[in-house]
Order: sequence, then C-alpha cells, then structure tokens
Amino acid sequence: MVSGYSSLGLEGKVFYEFVQRSPDLETKAWKNPDRNRLERELIQARLEINILKTQLEAVLTDPAGRSAAEILREAAFQQAVLIAELREKEELLRNLVITDGLTGLYNHRYFQQRLKEEFERLKRYSGVSSVIMIDIDNFKFYNDTHGHPAGDKVLKTVADLLRHKARHSDIVARYGGEEFAVLCHGGLDETVKVAERFRREIEIAVIPGQERQPLLDGQTHGSLTICLGVAAYETAMTEPGELVEKADMKLYQAKNAGRNRVVY
Ligand code: GH3
Ligand code: MG
Ligand code: MG
Repeated sequence: MVSGYSSLGLEGKVFYEFVQRSPDLETKAWKNPDRNRLERELIQARLEINILKTQLEAVLTDPAGRSAAEILREAAFQQAVLIAELREKEELLRNLVITDGLTGLYNHRYFQQRLKEEFERLKRYSGVSSVIMIDIDNFKFYNDTHGHPAGDKVLKTVADLLRHKARHSDIVARYGGEEFAVLCHGGLDETVKVAERFRREIEIAVIPGQERQPLLDGQTHGSLTICLGVAAYETAMTEPGELVEKADMKLYQAKNAGRNRVVY
C-alpha cells in the first residue's frame, strides 16, 4: 500500500509537470482547426486527471485494504494510458506549430529558428552553411490565368519537388507566399549544385496550364519556372539575417537577368 502510493505519487508528478507544460505550446501556435481540437482534448484530459486525483485521494483516505490496492492499480493504469495519449497529442501539436498548412513544408518561423541555431553554431565552431532563396517566376500571371486554387496546387507541386530533390539534412521551408527557403549544410559550390537541381526539376516538371506562361529568353514553349539566389556563410557576417539578405539580393539579380536561373 505504501509502496503503491509512492509509485503513483511519482507518476502523478511526472504527469502534472507534463500537463503544466502544455499551456506554453498553446500560446505558440496560430489558429488552426486541428489545433483547436487538440487543445479541447488537452483541456478534457486535464479535467479527467483532476477527477482521477480526487478518486485517488478518496481511496487513500479509505482504510479498505486489498480492494483499495486494486483500485489504485486500476487508477495507475488509467493514468499511464492518459500520459501516453497526451504525449502523442503533444507531438502532433508540435508538428502543427512548425509546419506550413498548404504545402506541408517547414514554416517561416521554424526556418528562422533553425537558421539562428545554425548561425550560432558556425560562429562558435566554424564550418560551412548556405541559404537558397527561391521565388516562382510570373506566378501572378499563373494565378490570373488559371485562378487562385490552381495556383495553390502549383505551390504544393513545387513544394513536393523541392522536398523530393533536397538532401536529408537540408531544411526546406515555405518562406512566404510563393517564396521558399532552403538551409543547406554545405559550402557555396555544393549548394549551387543543389539549387541548379531544383531549378531544372521545376523547369521539366509537367505543370497544368504552364504552356500559357510568358516565354522567357531561350524558351520555345511556356513553362513554370523558378529563380534561385544562393549565399554562403561568411565569417564577417554578424547575424543570421545577413545570410538571407545576401541570398535575396542574388535572387533579385536572377529576376533581373531574365528569370529561370540560379545566381550566387
Ligand atoms: P516574379 O517573376 O517577378 O516573381 O513575378 P510574380 O508574378 O511571381 O511576382 P509578384 O510578386 O508580382 O506576384 C506574386 C503572386 O503570388 C501574387 C500572389 O497572388 C501570389 N501568391 C502569393 N501567395 C499565394 C498563395 O498562397 N496562393 C496562391 N494561389 N497565390 C499566391
Ligand atoms: Mg515573390
Ligand atoms: Mg514570383
């Protein structure tokens, strides 16, 4: 009885700390139906654990012998099930917080967080890392020609192709609207090769309605294309934003040079 109580007390403590951490998660996420549902379930689970705690207290003050031990065992089992379910929900919520809803890529905030961490690591231990900024060419034209829902499908297709062509260690994110960003653990030459692979993959992809896209230099038929700007970390850089700024400047140059190209 005494040992049963102390083990339950320990589980209860772990569970209590876990539940206490959840409000922090709730403040981090934005409005999302899945998230709202998960939040409601978390609140429900907290209510259930409070009921359980009340039941446990009642049992512990009751000198009922063996049957009380059985009830305690059952309560401990229920508590363990609840903990497992909540851990699963916490994981789901964590994924929602870092994912872009439309494309399933990492979102802007997560990219910034990883970039900051990477930058700090580079400052402390040296090493190489690069950023690729990507923007779809003439995407307004595509939307105006085929409609916004068709544009959304293109964003998903481009995202899937980037994800597919990226290496396992690359962080591929939707940076905003029709822009994507990739954090690569490699130097400039290596990252330019990755960027060129992305460019080529989108150029040859079969995208519905792309034949009506404005013709670019050297093209004989319309194609949906992207521009990419690449910048590598330099020791003179003092904050992570400089890496993105430089890649963005290269992206701008790619647009001015005629689109469908990589500039570094
Ligand atoms: P450029 O080659 O210079 O990049 O031209 P652009 O037309 O792609 O650039 P612009 O900035 O003029 O237009 C970007 C378009 O991207 C306008 C906007 O409607 C579209 N867009 C941004 N976010 C979304 C989205 O989530 N879904 C859809 N369908 N379109 C989007
Ligand atoms: Mg843009
Ligand atoms: Mg664009």
